[in-house]
Amino acid sequence: MKEAAATIYVNDICDIVKRYHRFLITAHVRADGDAIGSEIALYYALKDMGKSVSIVNDSAVPQVYRFIVPNGGIYIYPELPKEEAEVVFALDCPTLDRLGKTRECIPKDAKIINIDHHISNENFGNINIVTDDVCATGEILLSILKEMKVKISSDIATALYVAIMTDTGRFTHTNTTPEALRAAAFLIECGARHNEVTKNVYNTNSFNQIQLNAHVLNTVKLHFENRIATVWVTKEMLEKTRVDAIDTQELADIPISIEGVYVGVLLREMTQPNWVKVSMRSRNGFDVNNIAKKFGGGGHKYAAGCEIQGSILEVQKLILVELEKGLLQKK
Ligand code: AMP
Ligand code: MN
Ligand code: MN
Repeated sequence: MKEAAATIYVNDICDIVKRYHRFLITAHVRADGDAIGSEIALYYALKDMGKSVSIVNDSAVPQVYRFIVPNGGIYIYPELPKEEAEVVFALDCPTLDRLGKTRECIPKDAKIINIDHHISNENFGNINIVTDDVCATGEILLSILKEMKVKISSDIATALYVAIMTDTGRFTHTNTTPEALRAAAFLIECGARHNEVTKNVYNTNSFNQIQLNAHVLNTVKLHFENRIATVWVTKEMLEKTRVDAIDTQELADIPISIEGVYVGVLLREMTQPNWVKVSMRSRNGFDVNNIAKKFGGGGHKYAAGCEIQGSILEVQKLILVELEKGLLQKK
């Protein structure tokens, strides 16, 4: 984030943090590494200032991120903290709707501080710190905490390292800027336990997870002159392998890794009957945020998602029509 902009917002946040005592932190549904890492870093920072803080999420924490969850834990809706918050931080979340059910536990007169890097952010907060030129919400949060002269403890650094490492795809996506790498280096200097992070997030799979991967790999298909690749996950596969739906987010990286593919699509049957969660990843300048928007979703240029009603095959057809139109325009 640009330094000048950071200063203006930080003064507002400093005032609010000084003035109020009860804080609630939340993030987008099916929270990922950036959402959870940012929440936990802010939790520790506010706790270190003596504030009363709770994290509340719509969905469970994926297994791979549980090692950074603080002792007090994370409330998963409908489990809620007893105290009403005066200030709500919404992190890594483009719209109020994307908070999912946590939206219902925002008190009517609470101040909302929206910190995010999605291109599709709707500036829904009382204070909005939104910029899409950073790799992760965790990178914005680090600038803010540094401006606020907060001591970056090793717990804060580890959580922010998770945010930055996961949203850059282990420093491989196009958002891996010099600033992102400098932020990661700084976090390691502050004591981020980076070996523990890579071990937990990327180098530990349950046997069940590997079995699920085998089922998913069996569904891979190429479309439109091999420019689009799809894979899917059914409820039946999850039941058979006993893997939680929340632990399937990384599967979106499989189809886009195929040589020559411009867009990779992961289709997941949702708990809600006859609804499919679509995750798209792209490269070579192809914008999947525009495609997701057509179905009421959003995200970033190279990683976006949406939820569509229908069976997996019906939804795949709908998405392929739009992707093919987009690819034809690009030709
Ligand atoms: P996913 O496909 O869920 O892995 O998400 C890819 C990116 O798009 C993430 O940054 C998500 O936060 C964002 N995203 C996914 N689904 C939606 C949606 N329905 N509305 C807005 N953003 C979304
Ligand atoms: Mn996210
Ligand atoms: Mn993010």
